[in-house]
Amino acid sequence: MRIVTTARELGDFRGGVLVPTMGALHAGHLALVSAARAEAARRGGGKPVVVSVFVNPTQFNDPKDLDRYPRTLDADSAGCERAGADIVFAPSPDEVYPPGQLFPTPALPAVAAGPGLEDASRPGHFAGVCQVVERLFELVRPAAAIFGEKDWQQLKVIEAMARDLRPDLSIIAHPTAREPDGLAMSSRNVFLTPADRSRARALWRGLAAARDRSTPMAAEAAMREVLEREGIAIEYAVVRDAWTLLGPVEGCASRALVAARLGTVRLIDNAEWRGDR
Ligand code: AMP
Repeated sequence: MRIVTTARELGDFRGGVLVPTMGALHAGHLALVSAARAEAARRGGGKPVVVSVFVNPTQFNDPKDLDRYPRTLDADSAGCERAGADIVFAPSPDEVYPPGQLFPTPALPAVAAGPGLEDASRPGHFAGVCQVVERLFELVRPAAAIFGEKDWQQLKVIEAMARDLRPDLSIIAHPTAREPDGLAMSSRNVFLTPADRSRARALWRGLAAARDRSTPMAAEAAMREVLEREGIAIEYAVVRDAWTLLGPVEGCASRALVAARLGTVRLIDNAEWRGDR
């Protein structure tokens, strides 16, 4: 496996499977890398697996969050190698956004503005995400890219963007990897105090409680009850149409989605919601 920092060095590694990340990789990320390895094998012809590690400044609306984002390239590279990557692409901000050039944000898909979801507390976040992901697609030129269901709204935004701009590119979704107690793995979990780490289990417990309720309203109430019992500050706890992220539609796939703050840490999670069906 090689580590490269410039697009020029990617020469022979185009046309493969890309796993875009911001580093600080955990077992959830590495599951995506293993899935990329399997996808590359399925496609045949020795397709390469490329993991990008880039903490994208344009998607952070809180400079403190950007400053303290964990950066662990040595450990990340070792993990990527174990999981079967061929190359780690770890560019500098100037490599991704060369000074003096403009990188317009692609038109944002409607699902980016799903009311009361990520955009409400992180305005501009998806503009930065679409900008960097499209830029990575341009530099790496993959045939397929893998994204985690953990960031459900992001997955739907990228699927919609790629459908418009890169119809030949396959976007592959990968299920959320969880700690044994159900907490979704996240690079931000390391910032939880021991007490908040314990309370954080309520996100998954809330999603599990929602599963047992037959109407969206009851499911949302169940999530709120579990989170509030732990004194957790809820940003949203909702059931939405899984694709449009608007209100759930009878007979269409639905998703329960939650975002909450524990101390200085913001956590998100989601799960399929089936209601009566
Ligand atoms: P990030 O580095 O947080 O931007 O995440 C990079 C990719 O890994 C995104 O596609 C995330 O959705 C995915 N990811 C992060 N955490 C998990 C997890 N626990 N399970 C599955 N995928 C994940």
